[in-house]
Amino acid sequence: MTRVNQAVIDMRSDTITRPTDAMREAMARAEVGDDVYGEDPTVNRLEAMAAEILGKEAAVFVPSGTMGNLISVLSHCGRGEEMILGDNAHIFYYEQGGSAAVGGVHPRTVPNLADGSLDLATVAAAIRGNDEHFPVTRLIAIENTHNRRGGTVLSVEYMDALGALAHERGLLLHVDGARIWNAAVALGVTPARLLENADTVSACLSKGLAAPVGSVVAGDRDFIRRARRMRKQVGGGMRQAGVIAAAGIVALDEMVDRLAEDHARARVLAAGLDELDGVSVDLASVQTNLVYFDVTRPDMTALDLATALTREGVRVIATGPQRLRAVTHYHISGEDIETALAAVPDVLARDSFEKGDGIVYG
Ligand SMILES: *Cc1c(COP(=O)(O)O)cnc(C)c1O
Repeated sequence: MTRVNQAVIDMRSDTITRPTDAMREAMARAEVGDDVYGEDPTVNRLEAMAAEILGKEAAVFVPSGTMGNLISVLSHCGRGEEMILGDNAHIFYYEQGGSAAVGGVHPRTVPNLADGSLDLATVAAAIRGNDEHFPVTRLIAIENTHNRRGGTVLSVEYMDALGALAHERGLLLHVDGARIWNAAVALGVTPARLLENADTVSACLSKGLAAPVGSVVAGDRDFIRRARRMRKQVGGGMRQAGVIAAAGIVALDEMVDRLAEDHARARVLAAGLDELDGVSVDLASVQTNLVYFDVTRPDMTALDLATALTREGVRVIATGPQRLRAVTHYHISGEDIETALAAVPDVLARDSFEKGDGIVYG
């Protein structure tokens, strides 16, 4: 039965979050200026706040996490130089190869382990020697939390060790911290501590924190100067951007601590799904707000299940032939989790179902 007159429970992503009332009020009142001249007081305030929270000298506001990673990589690496990153990294998988396409940066992938980490010995072995056959290794990029590994959290100890390895070998460490807030909340540490031994970070305001647009990039002053130039080069210099930065300030002020609620709901969802016949969940991977699960019914694909659930008003995405992703966020209540869990067994028990339709993100 198709749900009518009921709100869709949309767990495709935390990017679907809409700005809060407090954000809309702050946006309406925002003092603005031309940010390319550095004259937007609201953007300047957001950047100062982000730098402080992330424990870096300076920060720059960018339209998206993809641009944040792109200008970071391009500020660290020249054409033909190499970046070591995970084979399941968002930068490698979901950013259209921008660092290669735009910057000529050569990606050297090493396997992401089940917890999202990169084996330190494997990384060390991937660093190039000084020989004219090789590209010059400049950068290691790591993702925390790790999207394709289930929203897994890399510990302070791991981040410190990876930073130490990078610096011992004369390299830089960039963190794709789209969900660094989730990592910090899950670990009970400050983002600044988690990033203490990283050089640069890109962090999203527009995911779990519910701002409508934007990410922040942070690092030392010299890096941020270069990143601002690079942002302008790729068309990301915005003018009266205080209108959206105002929502980012509310996001950082009010929306970080509550991520623990999303994490608790993700655990409830994962445990409930794992009890059902026809799906399975790797519970150890459910550490933050992402729940990846597999359809185990042999005649049903992830797209079939996603399509059938959509008809029931529950939206998730297919990320592999048998794999799906559900994401908890600001608009998903405990009751929504119960409703979603109740819809799944009915769909899984059907004798016949329509073929799934849509995109597999993986
Ligand atoms: C979403 C995401 C990005 C990119 O952010 P956009 O704002 O969607 O461009 C980068 N890295 C990770 C891990 C992400 O989840």
